[in-house]
Amino acid sequence: MTVGFEVRQSDGAARLGDLPVPGFDQPIETPALLPVINPNITMLSAADIVDEFDPEVLITNAYVIYQSDELKSKALSEGVHGLLDVDLPVMTDSGSFQLAEYGSISVGNDEIVTFQSAIGSNIVTPVDLPTPPDAPRSVANEELSTTISRIEAAREHIDTDRLLSGPVQGGGYHELRHRAGMRARQTGADIYPIGAVVPLMEAYRFDTLVDVVVAAKRGLGPDAPVHLFGAGHPMMFALAAALGCDLFDSAAYALYARDGRYLTPTGTYRMDEIDFLPCACPICAQHDAVTLAGNERLLARHNLHVSFAEVRRIKQAIRQGSLFELLDIRSRSHPDLLDGYRRLLQHDTFLERHDRAIKSTFMYVSAESAHRPEVNRHHWRLRDWTVEGDVLLASSGIHLEDRYDVRWEIRPPFGPVPPGLDHTYPLSAEIPDRLDTAAYEQAVEGIRALSHGSTDAHLTLAHGDWPATALDRLPDAIETVRVE
Ligand SMILES: [Zn+2]
Repeated sequence: MTVGFEVRQSDGAARLGDLPVPGFDQPIETPALLPVINPNITMLSAADIVDEFDPEVLITNAYVIYQSDELKSKALSEGVHGLLDVDLPVMTDSGSFQLAEYGSISVGNDEIVTFQSAIGSNIVTPVDLPTPPDAPRSVANEELSTTISRIEAAREHIDTDRLLSGPVQGGGYHELRHRAGMRARQTGADIYPIGAVVPLMEAYRFDTLVDVVVAAKRGLGPDAPVHLFGAGHPMMFALAAALGCDLFDSAAYALYARDGRYLTPTGTYRMDEIDFLPCACPICAQHDAVTLAGNERLLARHNLHVSFAEVRRIKQAIRQGSLFELLDIRSRSHPDLLDGYRRLLQHDTFLERHDRAIKSTFMYVSAESAHRPEVNRHHWRLRDWTVEGDVLLASSGIHLEDRYDVRWEIRPPFGPVPPGLDHTYPLSAEIPDRLDTAAYEQAVEGIRALSHGSTDAHLTLAHGDWPATALDRLPDAIETVRVE
């Protein structure tokens, strides 16, 4: 069946949403983190995780269960919820991760999909073909078609009250990801994982990841709930959410713990290099670094606490319209993450299409702030304004003799502020006195937009030493006056 995913609020392409699951009164509230449960590893059981973290939904691997006679027979008799001893939505993966890792698996699509339905999985995943990002185009094209036909076949083999996951493949080719998104959507699947992006995330190729996700999202359309498969590090959750991903799964909490690594929202520490725990979770409040270093289970619990806290922080940021400020902070954690953020800002029409008009105060905190969708939207709107006569464009502190017909305030990075709108969003922004070059360059883009429709006006810009890189972009017809 197809469920109605409801978006309640958005910020950029990020959204707070509700994903109904048949058989459960409460919808999954997104963005949601799905802890990955490996039923073979009891370091932290599903029931322990539910008790401590109250997740919206879990994910486990049907292929791992199917491979073990003991787990398989218990899952068939008690259901996957009985096997895991939980009563909340459970998503199952199919073995395509193992396919990507080991090159083959010993079960067919119909067989594993039927098994997932038989054990009562709430979200069933077909065996998609995870095309690596650097595979040749012909391979990517062929594999995405196979994946689509497996989604279609899966629908025939599952009970009607199961949700179907429709993975989007296409390798590193934007038009293939776009087409895969459109075709996956046409299958009528219920949620849409963006597949085979783990190699991009492991290699910190966040700029390429952004392109791949944007292309897939364009194909899927705005109403499709999207799962970023394998996005387990909290450092990148804000970027994933800003791209419009609604579900993330985390195996990282356990994998990193086994490897003696401590997650934070801004990066990772090795336990042998950390003396002081920079975290307020109950584990870190009650234990010291030496204790955590010797206890995988405590470390895994800390890792999950920071992961869930980051998801809550992101949800709150979307609620109040400050996700870009959070993303700005997170993108300072690593240059490659900053590259991803900058790449996202270049997708201005994509962001603008989803962004909402009114938020809490716009905070200008970096050169990236100059390229936020609110700034671009203001520039597009300025193209529809017309001014006439002798027009002075000047910042609020600049005063010239009163020989102009009209005065418009200039506020970098927005540029000209239409009369009467200076207290409205986003022009009411908090902006530092010491601005970077990008703010002035974007203000000039605003002036260019206003001059576009104002062919009968004579515009004068009065400025206090704006950088040449900005002034050089002014149309020749605009006069400039430098004011000390
Ligand atoms: Zn902690």
